[in-house]
Amino acid sequence: MRHGRPLGRLGWILGVLSLGACAGLTQQQSDRMKEAQEIANETTKLYGVPHVSVFNYDRLSPNAAAGYAGHQSWILLSRSALDETTFAPVLAHELGHATLRHDYDVELRVARPTMADYWKARQQRELDANARAVEIMVRVMKKKEPEALLMLATYFADANTSRGGLPIGLPAAHMHPCDQLQDLTTRFPGDWSREVTCEKATGTRPLFPYSGTDRELGLE
Ligand SMILES: [Zn+2]
Repeated sequence: MRHGRPLGRLGWILGVLSLGACAGLTQQQSDRMKEAQEIANETTKLYGVPHVSVFNYDRLSPNAAAGYAGHQSWILLSRSALDETTFAPVLAHELGHATLRHDYDVELRVARPTMADYWKARQQRELDANARAVEIMVRVMKKKEPEALLMLATYFADANTSRGGLPIGLPAAHMHPCDQLQDLTTRFPGDWSREVTCEKATGTRPLFPYSGTDRELGLE
């Protein structure tokens, strides 16, 4: 789940989209795309933010299930984001960015901002989008809060398992999945978190381009 401006030039991306739009989607995946747009419409209306268009797009950077292109007001969902278990948390996370107005560049409210300040602010946005995702799953997708939390938490746990606990292959500004899960349990304390485990691999150094905590980046 990454956001920002991964898309480069507008003309290029429009060409790619028109060539690849909905090619080879199963009926179920097409239905999910339709559902995604309906959920997006309802969400943007509820939060009073500009309309976003949802597209299927499979050329996102590796390991990204979806993306939010704020400047274009697009949400791009890869085929993997249309799976039963990932659809709701991934779409809700991207809508989290949209409703938090992350189409605007981060504002650094310190006297002499550094790159570390910038990445920290970007990481914070990801965590904020996660929390907003839970809210959207409850308010728009009509899930109970513990269920919404568990869906998002399971997504992080799976992301961790697929990386063997290592902080590798993470999109820019994304913390280790276990750190994202930890933030969720701090914001939403409750029994729900007992059902999910997320363990980091130990004894390893973070690999570029991992953007982890200050300590892990050697900034403290
Ligand atoms: Zn994100």
